[in-house]
Amino acid sequence: MFESLTEKLNLTFKQITNRGRLTEKDIDETLKSIRIALLEADVNFKVARDFVSRLKNQLTDDLLAQGLNPSQHVIKAVDNELKATLGSFTSKLSEGTTTPSVILLVGLQGSGKTSTAAKLALYLKNLYNTSPLLVPADTKRAAASDQLITLAKSIDVPFYTSNESDGTPLEISMSALNQAKQDGTKWLIIDTGGRTTVDTELMEELQEIKKTINPCETILVLDAMTGQDAVKTASEFQQVTELTGLILSKLDGDARGGAALSVTAVSGIPIKFVGTGEKPEFLETFHPDRMASRILGMGDVLSLIEKAEAVVDEEKQRALEKKFTQANFNLQDLLDQIRVLNQMGPLEQIMGMIPGMSQMKNQLGTADSNQKRLSRFEAIVLSMTPRERNQPVIINGSRKRRIASGSGTSVQDVNQLLKQFKDMQKMMRQFSPNYSALRGRKPKLPKLFLKQ
Ligand code: GDP
Repeated sequence: MFESLTEKLNLTFKQITNRGRLTEKDIDETLKSIRIALLEADVNFKVARDFVSRLKNQLTDDLLAQGLNPSQHVIKAVDNELKATLGSFTSKLSEGTTTPSVILLVGLQGSGKTSTAAKLALYLKNLYNTSPLLVPADTKRAAASDQLITLAKSIDVPFYTSNESDGTPLEISMSALNQAKQDGTKWLIIDTGGRTTVDTELMEELQEIKKTINPCETILVLDAMTGQDAVKTASEFQQVTELTGLILSKLDGDARGGAALSVTAVSGIPIKFVGTGEKPEFLETFHPDRMASRILGMGDVLSLIEKAEAVVDEEKQRALEKKFTQANFNLQDLLDQIRVLNQMGPLEQIMGMIPGMSQMKNQLGTADSNQKRLSRFEAIVLSMTPRERNQPVIINGSRKRRIASGSGTSVQDVNQLLKQFKDMQKMMRQFSPNYSALRGRKPKLPKLFLKQ
């Protein structure tokens, strides 16, 4: 989502790399290009203006005393401001003082509310090892209820079914709450109705539910693709119903990111989660600091590890983390990691989380060609002996010929794979949660995924 902003900010930083010190003119020019980059990313103009003015104050402070060169100085200051604009700290879900804790999901039609209800249910189920109750209280859109029930079944989470077919959203919510109390359910997630625009009837309905049910969280789901309209919607909802948090859906889309960068600054409401795909597992906790790193093209290793956690068992996960940070892995591990990567989601998303890689996403091959390459790769590794997988250095000419014929590939393919494995090892050594970009190093994208 932030590719273009990342690219422009990095261009700006590049222009001042290798400078001894910045003149006033350099600072002005830098601030101007950062402001333009923000506006082009569809950031609210007031937010962009305040951002740049705070940045100016930071840049004139003597951070150089800390031993940073001008471009590092600017990157650090932009990083600080991005974090502040995105909300400074991670805002967690609050639990209620009584059981169940109720989450009321509100939003416009098509914002991703129903999908998000299922995403949250899966998130809570995995976190607490107990299923929440999903409540379809969107009576306006007939298909919404069926959609939520289908999603609930797909993630094996219970849903509330009303005895009366013509219950109002308030009546449905109240009966669901009673049922949850009786069953000792820990969390109740209510999917309320949406409209195409904010209207009085919708607001009254929400206020009524809120007053009666007393949810511990009232979360507005916003479609990040709608840009500044999402920011406007947040302000409108906030005026009428007190919101406790936001969830930005469709962050995987090709919107420019302005909504994500402006909405908290304008509305004062924290973003709690972001949706990064249609399926229930595509929900990520929103961490302003990690998002700032992603925007700066410095990757987000922690989120990457969390994504892996969701698909790898704990023991394997610990080994994976160790190997990620120690670059201590062999071909078998690499094969395991590739299989994990495949389960973690689209490669472009994963690459954006690896330090220094976000700008290289456009160099990736198509999903199809990547898949073919990975299958060939898998066949080659499977034709190796365990010793060869552990110590690729022993693979000499005759071993290469044997492996090639065993896997139905050529010696050239085997050579290529071994070269790519070496590149990958090199890259993994640069893998570090610390900002490698700040140290002026730029990891190269392993050829394994490059267009050939
Ligand atoms: P509602 O009307 O607010 O309940 O919205 P839905 O949950 O039905 O979502 C509207 C459309 O957006 C559906 O096609 C969803 O699959 C899609 N959608 C929801 N969240 C995401 C997301 O995070 N990423 C993508 N790509 N699509 C999403």
